[in-house]
Amino acid sequence: METACKLASDFRNGRSCEEFIEKLYENIDEKLNTYITLCMKSALKSAKKVDKNGKGRLLGVPIAIKDSISTEGIKTTCASHILDGYIPPYDAHVIELLKKEGAIIIGKTNMDEFSMGTSTETSFYGPAKNPCNRRRVPGGSSGGSAATISAGEVPIALGSDTGGSIRCPASFCGIVGLKPTYGLVSRYGLIAYANSLEQIGPMANDVRDTALLLDIISGHDQRDSTQIGSSGGYLDALSDDMHGLKFGVPEEFFGKDEDSIDPQVEKSVRDAISTFEEMGAEQKKVELPNIKYALAAYYIIAMSEASSNLARFDGLRYGLREGKDEDWHTTFSNIRAKGFGAEVKRRILIGTYALSAGYYGKYYLKALCVRTLIKQDFDFALKDCDVLIAPTMPILAFELGEKIDDPLSLYMADVNTVPINLAGVPSVSIPCGFSRKLPIGLQIIGRPFEEKTILNAAYAYEQQANSGN
Ligand code: GLN
Repeated sequence: METACKLASDFRNGRSCEEFIEKLYENIDEKLNTYITLCMKSALKSAKKVDKNGKGRLLGVPIAIKDSISTEGIKTTCASHILDGYIPPYDAHVIELLKKEGAIIIGKTNMDEFSMGTSTETSFYGPAKNPCNRRRVPGGSSGGSAATISAGEVPIALGSDTGGSIRCPASFCGIVGLKPTYGLVSRYGLIAYANSLEQIGPMANDVRDTALLLDIISGHDQRDSTQIGSSGGYLDALSDDMHGLKFGVPEEFFGKDEDSIDPQVEKSVRDAISTFEEMGAEQKKVELPNIKYALAAYYIIAMSEASSNLARFDGLRYGLREGKDEDWHTTFSNIRAKGFGAEVKRRILIGTYALSAGYYGKYYLKALCVRTLIKQDFDFALKDCDVLIAPTMPILAFELGEKIDDPLSLYMADVNTVPINLAGVPSVSIPCGFSRKLPIGLQIIGRPFEEKTILNAAYAYEQQANSGN
């Protein structure tokens, strides 16, 4: 598929958007199960308007949206039975911005239920598949968004990342995915899993499209008080000059032994690090001593926030509503028992436990203290270094069904992505090689609100890799 930058310029120059969108729908491979909802009718209507007289930086560009992001008039389920049939009456802020720039929503992508997972297997609508190998998972939770880009069905997509949900599927499907600094992109209209950790972010085939999409979605919003926003300029600022860039390689991200990191992943990432040195960047020594506590702290904080956020799904206000009315407690319990999947229930239970009297100080407050230590580790490491470079995922995309009955092993796969959300810093995952025909992802982490620096580093690496050196 052509890039978003190219498509927008083609449509501006008179290429028929309607014909393009018609073809696009014919090419969507339903067997990959990447979409929960397709919106062909409204997309074709928008395409007609583009052909008449449209404008915007994403004029006519098809985009897939993770089903955790509210879209006015389009079913939004978060891949949960409990939101069956829910049609939001409003657009998320990022959707308003995309529409203003002429983008066309193709559909809502499959994901882990309420973004809780690493494989897109907890979806009520069945797992999505990895286009690089259909017996394998696309990663999660924004697996549908990554897979549809990787399959060449759309050039760009939105995902959300609470502990790796953009970067993990980007890594497993061989695309680019960026988790913005906490507070760069408005969360207005994002169905919350763990508010203090998550951000909506861009996913694309290349760094230029990723930068363009970030330019657009980082616009200011009064309705999210945690958002600072930006005035963009990420695409225009792209430069592949790496001279003078200082980078650190935190060894803590490479595991202790072969069991904790796939040797081929390690090799590809170390090769990429040499490429940065060849391009003129300078390596500095760094340490992140508290990173070993990140997984435990993340899961306590994320589950605690989830247990509180998910209390609003009572079957009365939106989504699933069935059976005859009984007293409030019975109705509430019945609907939640039926509407939530096993993983979501596990997290509500653990989160409620961690927040309960007597355990709050022991678990939740401790996890918050650890979070501060991890943030300090990053602050310190990023004093001397402009960026940190590490593997995104320590493993390759695994087989469908391989880990789903072993939640701990799934949680462990997030070991390199969750520290970034705890610290609130930005990170981009880009492809850096293959092993057994499965993509490997490289993670470039930066200082808060220095997305330009990590995008430049990603761009430089991408240019170098494409030139065959
Ligand atoms: N795998 C992590 C979790 O299940 C991260 C998910 C996410 O980023 N939404 O919590």
